[in-house]
Amino acid sequence: MRDLEVILCGTGTSSGIPLIGCRCAVCTSDDPRDRRTRCGACLRYVDDDGTPRVVLLDCPPDHREHSLSLGLDRCDGIYFTHAHVDHIFGLDDVRRYNAVQRTPIEIFAEPETMSALERVFQHIFRKQDNVNPSFVADLVPQAIGPGSTVVRHGLRIEPLRLLHGRLPILGFRLEAADPDGTPSTDQPAPFPLAYCTDVSGIPPETWPALEGLRTLVLDMLRPRNHPTHFTIDQAIDAATRIGADSTWFLHMSHEIRHAELDPQLPPGMRLAWDGVRLGAGPGVGGRDSDPAADASAVADGAGGE
Ligand SMILES: [Zn+2]
Ligand SMILES: [Zn+2]
Ligand SMILES: [Zn+2]
Repeated sequence: MRDLEVILCGTGTSSGIPLIGCRCAVCTSDDPRDRRTRCGACLRYVDDDGTPRVVLLDCPPDHREHSLSLGLDRCDGIYFTHAHVDHIFGLDDVRRYNAVQRTPIEIFAEPETMSALERVFQHIFRKQDNVNPSFVADLVPQAIGPGSTVVRHGLRIEPLRLLHGRLPILGFRLEAADPDGTPSTDQPAPFPLAYCTDVSGIPPETWPALEGLRTLVLDMLRPRNHPTHFTIDQAIDAATRIGADSTWFLHMSHEIRHAELDPQLPPGMRLAWDGVRLGAGPGVGGRDSDPAADASAVADGAGGE
């Protein structure tokens, strides 16, 4: 594996930020980091055969815009955390990758999530029932769950059990794999990485799989309690206990203003923003590549209301 990039394409909660019809300081902020689309991540790398690979974590309603902004032209697999609308409603658009690459796309999800996908996207999964023959995505469902590690094209993905309120969902530990499927001893940055969105609890059996991380991506919804997401304090506590070299928070609501909270976070922790590329340098990467490096000045001057 070479030329690895992990991009957090969307970093907002299910409504997206700004919220429709909201005039709060964050929703009207001039800081581009306060504009948050729905959460999904993209991994790009070149495998050992020299083939460029693209893997998606979830497929949010904003996937089409994410894809266009990154110039994606293929997809080698989609891994779903759970079936909430903000994580799956971009799936129809992946048919373009089928058209370009002329191969089916494997989609990986727990059986419950897969059932929901099949129910929501009947026109894809039961295309024989469509009234007119139409071009729909060509997908290969693959059932996964905690303990069922997947290795494809030098990428090793271990599903992790997380709790999203009472709903059991998946997080993912991502690493480069040797040809025998075991984790490579020399991991390219930002690996080993764990992607843990939409989480309010980490069950005991998952903690060992969160050890030795270079990078953690973790849910942080807002300051106030929420039944299905970590608050700011809960997210910081969990990140502190996990102890990754770098932690990036995402799935944020309009109650979090980037320029206000980001500087207050403990060392090694940062708020993500849409399009941030992880793994630029040691420790907390990305600060130098921040497209809005001057945005704190912009935001301070903007004032909101
Ligand atoms: Zn969500
Ligand atoms: Zn707002
Ligand atoms: Zn959710």
